[in-house]
Parts: sequence; structure tokens; C-alpha cells
Amino acid sequence: MKLLVFLFALLMGFLPQESLDSASANMQNTCVSKEFLLGKTHYEQDSTFVLISSEHTVLRKPNNYIKKETYEAFKKMYEAARQDGVHLVITSASRNFWVQRYIWEQKWKASKTADKKQRALEILKYNSMCGTSRHHWGTELDFNSPKLEFWNSERGKKTYKWLCENAHKYGFYQPYTAKSPNGRNRGYNEEKWHWSYAPLSAEYTRQYKLLIKPSDLKGFLGDDLVEELDIIGNYVFGIAQPNRSLLL
Ligand SMILES: [Zn+2]
Repeated sequence: MKLLVFLFALLMGFLPQESLDSASANMQNTCVSKEFLLGKTHYEQDSTFVLISSEHTVLRKPNNYIKKETYEAFKKMYEAARQDGVHLVITSASRNFWVQRYIWEQKWKASKTADKKQRALEILKYNSMCGTSRHHWGTELDFNSPKLEFWNSERGKKTYKWLCENAHKYGFYQPYTAKSPNGRNRGYNEEKWHWSYAPLSAEYTRQYKLLIKPSDLKGFLGDDLVEELDIIGNYVFGIAQPNRSLLL
């Protein structure tokens, strides 16, 4: 019966835009490929991604693409923040497998730590192994600065307080929270700048659990440590979970 009412409302154009957005996101979520989850996506060729306007980001192509739904939600949040005197600037959005591999391997080669396991753990404080970054999905945004100095400044504290109080209204939450004995985040360090669009990212996390195995993570320096460091368990699933009210 609910479905009939929904279809009737859809036909008559009675549904509010939010419901239509949710419905289309639901439909897209039903077919997620392994390649997509691993970041093997060329965003400029994927019609579900859009370019972020220069008024919202300092990024240039090819890193300034984002899922349409994430961007629509961000724009509403941006405007609400602006009205409260908080300026949100996107400093990181989508990075595919190959961009992430470049970042990872640059850090790997530059590291002075001889022990490979220790080297990986140091890089993993703030960076992902290729194929495990949430930034692959077009659902993640970093705001303003990845430097702790900013987030400890007055402006940074005001920005973070605003995000904590308001981001959930637009579907965003902070997956990499402070670590604590009972905390859910057991992988990366806290990232106050990193916010995730939960209506999509929670679904991709669920699909990742179903489809991706450690043997799928290969093709980069240090990939022999994937199982030993339980990269999937600690860094893909060892994160704070979104409040259920954010999910579709
Ligand atoms: Zn991030």
C-alpha cells in the first residue's frame, strides 16, 4: 500500500525534493561494483559525479568531483553555515585508487623508518592504503585545513562546534573521532576536518563488507602488509558509526 501511495505521489509530483533525492540514491545504491568500492573510478566519466564549484573548494580537476547527492547536501549545509558566520571550504573530496597510490607511495618512499610494518603504521595515522580510502566514494569531504593548528585556533574551534551541532541535519557525520578505550574509531587518528555523507557512505561501507577481501588490495608498495595489519578490519570498519537517523 505504501508503495502505491509513493508511486501515485511520484506521478503527481507531490513528493518533496528530499524524498526524491533519497529514492534516487536508494536506486543507485543497489548496484555497486567492486571496482567502485576500491576507487577504480574515472570520476569525469561517471555521470553520478559532479564537479565542485570553485566558490566551494580550492581543489582543481581531477580531484574536485563528488557524488551528486553529497554535493546537494553540502550546498545546503554551506549556506546554513555561512548564515551563522562559518565559512566551509572543501580541501579534499574524491581521490581515486591511482591518486591514492601516488600519495601512499610518495610517503612510503620518503619515510626514514626501516621497519616496513612501523612505516605503514606511521603513514596510516592520517593516510589510507589504496583501495581502502573513503575518499574513493564521492561521499567524503575535508573542510578548511588538515592541520591541527587550525582546529585549535578560535576560528577552527568555532567551525568544529558548528559542524558537531549542525552537520547531522544535512546527513554528514565525523567517522574519524577521537580514540578512547570504548571508542569506535580504532584505525586513523582523529580528523576534525573529515565529514562523511552517511546516507551513501553507510551503504558503501555495508557493500564493502560483502564484496571486498584482503586479496583485492594489491598493486602498491607495502600491499603485503594488508592481512598482517588487518587493514580492512581496523581502517575500513574501525570507524565511528553514523547515527541511525542519518541513514536512508
Ligand atoms: Zn579526509
